[in-house]
Amino acid sequence: ESFDELNISKQLQYAVADLGFEKPTPIQAQSFSVIMSGTDMVGIAQTGTGKTFAYMLPILQDLKFSKQVHPRVMVLVPTRELVLQVVEEIEKFGKYSSIRVVGIYGGTNINNQKEAVAQGTDILVATPGRLYDLIISRAIQLKSIKKVVIDEVDVMLDLGFRFQLTNILELLPTKRQNIMFSATMTDDVNVFIHDFFIAPATVSV
Ligand code: AMP
Repeated sequence: ESFDELNISKQLQYAVADLGFEKPTPIQAQSFSVIMSGTDMVGIAQTGTGKTFAYMLPILQDLKFSKQVHPRVMVLVPTRELVLQVVEEIEKFGKYSSIRVVGIYGGTNINNQKEAVAQGTDILVATPGRLYDLIISRAIQLKSIKKVVIDEVDVMLDLGFRFQLTNILELLPTKRQNIMFSATMTDDVNVFIHDFFIAPATVSV
């Protein structure tokens, strides 16, 4: 399969070309139509398979330009390093689409992050701990969130983020698309899917 067959926008085609990617990886090829269809999805994929692009490509394809302040997409990842990495990838894919992205993570000045959110963003990329702090201090408005991606959920649960993750998901609008990636299917991950996902399609590579 080629990127042409995915029917992506010109803006995304140019960004893909700039990155030098020749064809979608298996997780990208399989996730695209599932995510575009709007159903919940559970992806079983390791780091290095191109999973970040697998969810960002259909999300960016679907995200229409808006001047709205409140975020419409939320990406949750377990670590600060991953926040920075995902923000960087989104900036590359979105460079012709004027997509705004803000990274939220702990261990750094919370007021700067509040300020960045207040400026308006389309996508929030966050670790659950700091994000939860910002939500309870009312610095982030969740009512416009349409899609949530939980990446490396197995690692997130191992790090003890169940409480924050559960609370964040319970505060999101009920009408939303849930997308999850995990390297492994553990009992913990299954409980999580059962509690929050509706008839998810599974994509495994
Ligand atoms: P990830 O699994 O998301 O951490 O991605 C692993 C690496 O693969 C990253 O450096 C990406 O930039 C790269 N990558 C993602 N998609 C493709 C693709 N279709 N072709 C070549 N490299 C890719």
